[in-house]
Amino acid sequence: MEKNIKLTLLDNGIDYIYTAVKPMLKKTSQSKDSWKYSVLHLYAGIQLLLKERLKQEHWSLIFQKTEEATPEKLVTGDFSSVYYDELIKRLKKIIPNFNFNEEPIKNLKSLRNKIEHFEVNIALSECQYTVALALDEIIKFWESDLKVNSTVKQQQKFQKIKSIATEFKAYRKQRLDKFKKEIDSIETSESGLRVLCPDCSSLSFVVFKNDIKECQCFVCDKKYNKHDYLQKIRGFERDEDYDPICSACQKETRIKYLIKDGVTLYCCLKCLKYELIDLEFEENFRQLKWIDIITMQKHNYTIDEFYEIQLDKQRQMYLGKE
Ligand SMILES: [Zn+2]
Ligand SMILES: [Zn+2]
Repeated sequence: MEKNIKLTLLDNGIDYIYTAVKPMLKKTSQSKDSWKYSVLHLYAGIQLLLKERLKQEHWSLIFQKTEEATPEKLVTGDFSSVYYDELIKRLKKIIPNFNFNEEPIKNLKSLRNKIEHFEVNIALSECQYTVALALDEIIKFWESDLKVNSTVKQQQKFQKIKSIATEFKAYRKQRLDKFKKEIDSIETSESGLRVLCPDCSSLSFVVFKNDIKECQCFVCDKKYNKHDYLQKIRGFERDEDYDPICSACQKETRIKYLIKDGVTLYCCLKCLKYELIDLEFEENFRQLKWIDIITMQKHNYTIDEFYEIQLDKQRQMYLGKE
């Protein structure tokens, strides 16, 4: 018997988006061709998801000319479906406080038009960033407007899309750019500290000094209270032989949270004291340069104070690299 292709509007949309994020899987991310299709598929998928929301309101709304809508045409597909601009107009009418940023979708659309209709010359990184921004917007829309009426299978597939996205560099970058002001203000006011997210493993999980405040990841949106976060981290630790007790507050809340390029970062989830152990840096620090000695004398720093300042600079530089 011949197999049929049978997809609902929502299945079809999710499927397109899933195909669009595939180049984000590390092995294939280098291919320029795959990114071209990523743009086309993502735009198609976004349109379908937005149409699905209209359809949930009333099926006739997905017809460009609603006055010509009939159930028969809906079944046969013999009609022009609503164009993008009209689609957005209708969504604005039916969803109170429609919170959708059109800018990233417009940019994706213009890139898609260039690809489909004439020629395109764009840096791969710019293309990836455009895709990441639009993807973030449709993920937000899915969470707020579509997830609630979807099947478990659809939710699982969309979760997979989200997992692939949050592992991808350009996606992480646009999220951190989006929340830069917020993260900076938390860090400079020292009310919170950025540590590794147990879910998406990006350096974007903010733990607050205030124990009651819910901690959250600025990349994947995952939220944990501080106690659960600590439990999660302890669960990951295997044969770790470091002191879990914080030397400042004496609580068993010290964690080792990042090791990279010979640098180990520790922090205390209670008082937020952090330590950066960089063997190479320590070695260099012991050999103070004359300019360091002048700086120390000028500001009247003790060697410990000076070390702390240098360490802080080192840490900022290190975190900035992520
Ligand atoms: Zn995360
Ligand atoms: Zn502490």
